[in-house]
Amino acid sequence: MNIGWVSRREPLPAQIRELKRLYPNARLIRIGKSFQSGGEVLLELQRRRCRAAVIILPKSLIARILELDPTFEILYPVMQVIHKNCEGERCCEFDPETDSILHTGRLVTHVRFSRFEQIRDIEVVGAEI
Ligand SMILES: [Zn+2]
Repeated sequence: MNIGWVSRREPLPAQIRELKRLYPNARLIRIGKSFQSGGEVLLELQRRRCRAAVIILPKSLIARILELDPTFEILYPVMQVIHKNCEGERCCEFDPETDSILHTGRLVTHVRFSRFEQIRDIEVVGAEI
């Protein structure tokens, strides 16, 4: 079987190892292009014969994929925050096997891969108005 990797980021070595452990006979198919809709993502994954995929895209697109095919296995990497505003790639605790540096404006967040989880549902959290 094939596992899709839908993200503009490359998978970390630790993420590749974990996917091999979870799906020993699967081939990882990287899909780095951008999508307009959830339907388009699902179509591409079906075309590439993926039965599951790690999808790092806006929640609205992921919600739409689940709506179209509730049985599709969507995984996301759980990342633990190590530091905020450290030296990034030059941080003394930075491990290229497991870590990523996220840049949001001028904010630098050093995160570490912990595990994959399957997305079952995406909820809208309401507040009284
Ligand atoms: Zn750091």
